Amino acid sequence: MASFEAFACDDCHSLSTRPQRRCWRCGSSAIRSVNLIGRGTLVSFTIIRVPPTVFQGQEPYHIAVIDLDEGLRITARLVVPEGREAAIDDPVIFDAMRPYGPIFRLV
Ligand SMILES: [Zn+2]
Repeated sequence: MASFEAFACDDCHSLSTRPQRRCWRCGSSAIRSVNLIGRGTLVSFTIIRVPPTVFQGQEPYHIAVIDLDEGLRITARLVVPEGREAAIDDPVIFDAMRPYGPIFRLV
């Protein structure tokens, strides 16, 4: 199973999706990479039908706001299997990382 890479502060235990020199919350420099399971809940989503040039041909696709169980809110691409519909509070799981960001899918 894929794991979702994030960055944790050893002092205040806050999480971030991006590597930073200092913690966004407490200013500590004790930042380390952590692998999260990447399970979460769908908070919000939209369907992109008119994408930017770089994503043309991939439409329609879902962009979602997801609350990870491990305590991080992220924006990600969401894969919705054929014949299903996404709904708020649906469980989702991390699937893969792409150059443009993470991909999650409905559980
Ligand atoms: Zn901190």
